[in-house]
Order: sequence, then C-alpha cells, then structure tokens
Amino acid sequence: MCGIVGVVGNNNSVRIAIDALKRLEYRGYDSFGVSVLHDQEIFTKKSVGSAIEKDNQGFFVDVPPAPLVIAHTRWATHGRVTEKNAHPHHSYDGNFSLVHNGVIENYLEIRQQLLEQGVQCKTETDTEVIAHLLAKHYEVSGDLLKTIYHTIGELEGEYAFVFLTRHDPDHIYAARYKSPLVFGSTPDLTIIASDQTAIAPLTKNMTFIREGDVVKASFNKAVCYEQADGRLVEVQRESVHIPWVDEALGRHGHPHYMIKEIYETPTAVETALKLRRVDLEPIVNDLVKRQLSITGAGSAFYASQIGQYYFADLANKYTYVHPSDEFLNLFKISNNDHLITISQSGETFDTLEVTRRAIQVGAPVTSISNMFGSTSHRLATYPIFQGAGAEVCVLTTKAIVSQAIILFILATLLGKKNGTLTSSQAEGLLDDAHRLPEAMGMIFEKYQPKIKETAIKHKDITNWFFIGRWMYYPVAMESALKYKEVSYLHAEGMPAGFFKHGTISLIDDDFYTIAFLPKEESYPDIFHFTISNISEIQARGGKVIAFGHEEEGHKDIKSLYDYIQLPTVNKYLDPILHLTAGQLLAYHCAIALGREIDKPRALAKSVTVR
Ligand code: GLU
Repeated sequence: MCGIVGVVGNNNSVRIAIDALKRLEYRGYDSFGVSVLHDQEIFTKKSVGSAIEKDNQGFFVDVPPAPLVIAHTRWATHGRVTEKNAHPHHSYDGNFSLVHNGVIENYLEIRQQLLEQGVQCKTETDTEVIAHLLAKHYEVSGDLLKTIYHTIGELEGEYAFVFLTRHDPDHIYAARYKSPLVFGSTPDLTIIASDQTAIAPLTKNMTFIREGDVVKASFNKAVCYEQADGRLVEVQRESVHIPWVDEALGRHGHPHYMIKEIYETPTAVETALKLRRVDLEPIVNDLVKRQLSITGAGSAFYASQIGQYYFADLANKYTYVHPSDEFLNLFKISNNDHLITISQSGETFDTLEVTRRAIQVGAPVTSISNMFGSTSHRLATYPIFQGAGAEVCVLTTKAIVSQAIILFILATLLGKKNGTLTSSQAEGLLDDAHRLPEAMGMIFEKYQPKIKETAIKHKDITNWFFIGRWMYYPVAMESALKYKEVSYLHAEGMPAGFFKHGTISLIDDDFYTIAFLPKEESYPDIFHFTISNISEIQARGGKVIAFGHEEEGHKDIKSLYDYIQLPTVNKYLDPILHLTAGQLLAYHCAIALGREIDKPRALAKSVTVR
C-alpha cells in the first residue's frame, strides 16, 4: 500500500519526486524516505510521519540535487513503524537502494539463506531482502538485467519496486508483479510511480507496467523487458493518454477533504446517472444469461451488499456477494458467472485476485472503479469509470455513494430487461434518482446542524450499535465502519433483527444505538420490524438515536431517545441518503474529538497488499 516514486531527470529531480510522493500519500503515510545518487554515492534520508508535514518543515532541504531519485511513503506490513524500517533499503554492500510496495511472502526463507552466506538483515521488513539479492546476483553476473531477472525469480508474493544503483549512474530500474506501477517520459525526465495521479502533472502519456515486466528508465525514455527463455527480452509496450486525472486538488476553503468530498456527492451522483446506456446495455444483456456475483472490500463490500438488495428487489436476481478477501475461499467462480467488482482505487489487492480468477475461468468482469486506467479498469471486460472525481480523504464518501447508484442503475435496467419492472416503472425509478442531489443538498443545509449537535453531544460514548433491516443493514454496516475509521470509537454494525440473538446482552442504561429507519409509508414492514427491535433495546434501558424521515407520524418515534429527520426520494433511494447522513455523523464526531480527519491512524486509501 506504499507509494513509490522514481525519477531520472536533471538536478531538479528531488523536488519533482517529493511532490509526486506527496500526491501518493493517500496510499500510506506512517513513514517515508528518499535516496539520490549523487557523485556516485547514495544519499538517503528517512523519517517517521508524513512526508507532506515534514516537507513543510524543510526536511528535504539538505538532500543533494541529483538526477536520479527514488522515494517512498510507507504503510507498514512487516516490521514496526520506525525510521530504520522506512524505505529506501540498502544492500549490504551499499551499492543498491530500493523502495518496494507489496509483500515478499518468502522473505524469512531468503533471510535465512542470506544469513548462511554471511549477510545479516538490519531491518524488520520483508523488503530489505530484495536489495541484498540484487547485490548478491550482481556479484555473480556484473550485469544489471541478469541481476534483476535472477532476483525476481526468487521472490514469492507481490511487489512493485524501483531501485537506483552505484553500478549505473544513468538509469533507475523497476519491476512489478501484482502491485501497480506506471511510468511516463518527457524530453527531460522519466517518472515511475505507483499510480497515475503522481505522474499526471508531468505527463498524461502513461505506460502501465505489465505484470512480470522490468523497466530501465533513462532521462527521456524507458525500455520495457519481459521474461522469456530464461532472460529479459526487450519488448514494446503501448502508452495510453489519460486526460482526466484530477490535478486540481485542494480543499477549496473546506477544513478537510472529507467534508469537501461529502459535499461533492451530489455531483458524483449526477455523473453516475450520466453513464451512457449503450455502455451499460452489453452488461445487462450478459446478466440476463448468467449468475451474478459482486465483490469488494471494506466500504466497497457494503456497496456490494446494497447492490445485492437492488438486484433482488428490482430484477428478481439473487446475487452472490462476498468480501473479496474471502471470495475465493467460498465461491468457485466459473464461466457461468458474471462478476462485478467494486474498488474506488481499482487497485485493491484482494479484489484484483478475484478478478484474475474470474478472467482465468472465462467469466466476464464488470469493474466499477473511480480511477481511470487502474488495474481493475484495464483487466475488466466491461470497465465502468465512476467519474466521481478524486477522493483524497482516506475514508470513502462520495465514491461509495456513486458505486451504490451505479448498482441501482444496473439492477433497474436488468429489471426492465427481464420483465421484473415495466418500462415505465424502471424509467420512473431512474428519474427519481435525479432528485437525490437536491435531497442531499437539503441534508447539508437543513439537517446537518442536528446531526452535528448529536455527534458532539455523544462524542464520549465509546461503544455503539448501528442497526438496520433490508438495505438499511449494509447502510448500518457502512455507517458503523465510517464511524470507527475516523472517530476511533467502537461501533458495531449488524442487522436490526440479529442482535436479539446474543449481542443484546450488552445493552444497559449506558448503551447507545444508531438505527436506520425507512419512511413508514415507503416500506411499512421494514419500518415496523425495525421499530420492534428498537423497542427491545429501549426495554433494557438502551438509548436509540434513529435516522428516519420527515413528517413521520408514528407514535413510537416520540418514545425514541432522539430522532434525526432526513428528506425522502423513494423507497429504493432513501437508503442512499442515510449513507450521507452517516458520513456526516462520523465526520462531526471525529472533529469534536480532534481526530486526524483525512488520514486516520493506520488506514490507507488503496489497499494493495493481501
Ligand atoms: N512490506 C513492505 C513494508 O512493510 C511494504 C509495505 C506496503 O507495500 O504496504 O515495508
């Protein structure tokens, strides 16, 4: 999940690399470091913390100007968060300096072999062994391409790495397997990085490095090699023009990206609603014929679950939905299946593993991703680009809403196609969705003060239930996740009908619950059943704050500890409004607690490790 950058350019390369690194910080930010090749010597500087903050304090001013630079922002998988464990890592002979994203699964075995050859690792990371292997193989061959070939042959797991070496003052080298890497060249420099946002301000012509490929980069071009016949063979790889990448980042007057991005949800919804029918038709046609599964991780999994209800209700289609980290343990996907994957970054490791399996067995894959040109986008049979705009806050807000809307559109179109919905019902539902942006605006303006007040008042409550039935169940799960992620308070999401089977023993006078209620007239059963569950909590002294709808006259609403009104659109789209309300609750609670809003501890935006 780390961010990697390598630059070959002129004496301005350090600044270029640091600025690119800062654009990657959403990927991980527990520590960082940089190496340059200066007068045949490698100079390295690293630290714990955030590269952005340290750069503002002048951390990099004493890094000597040099044309070759590698840089890294880390999200530790192996080894504590210490300066020593921060990347770059050096080989035992000091000739190689390397940054890595991924996990070397056989690193303990390699460590042991190195030890037997007299090389002792100095850090706790899995990464360090790669630097030593490079040095070892170079001792034997004296040839850098052979060295890389033999080194990657020994690695198990996943990696994207970039290194510089005293053996070659003109080039940096990179290799990838499963973890992402992309490069671009201009007449004056080549930049290699973990994703396109790092590169975009320098060039929009990008080459996505293929799995197993190796790259040798000089100041104005990069040459790709593939592994063939026991060696690396030069190969032509096409670059693609990626015009859309959002460089206009900035909080635009908002105190945090999280709130800015929540406020951008109406636009993200409008963009999703503009997806062209001609692009969606082939997916819908395929769904008529095949079994459907949906997968994602974290919030994207909850979006998948919301989609499961949409397909069930609107298209009478049962959907297999599993979190991507467990998907392959449960489901033997075949070419009878159509897989929909959901990943904001399009680089989520676990989700890509499912994608690869699906492709292997010939199952068509639709990917819903917010990163144009991401791995999931490129692998998919039917890539859907969300176009929700860059999401910088590590917590997803507008992107998960846009994912849910895209699933709603697909389910509605399928329902129309297979006759579950009449044409006018389907078009009516799609028309209704255009009212969501306005309803969201009402939440921001009219109902946010109450949400904020509730969040502040309860900021010291350290244990919560979040409950809901039907689509409000994944809404509750997602809202609890958001609450935990940013407030660091314990919030347990579950179906409202489930907690009476055990978890109810936690309820006492000091226990607080957030419940999500549909509008009574939209879905009477779900409303009444949820009210019954709320009564079960209240009977034991528990306090229940419910999110519900305006003008709700039901008598039990009055007995609630607290009630937060939201606008209404229709039965199927109201749960989407609750997602936004849940995000605002989490945001205001975390503000009241003084948390790191955009970069909560231990989180990373793009989870590119297993
Ligand atoms: N495994 C490496 C480390 O812990 C890289 C981690 C990552 O890519 O997130 O330093």
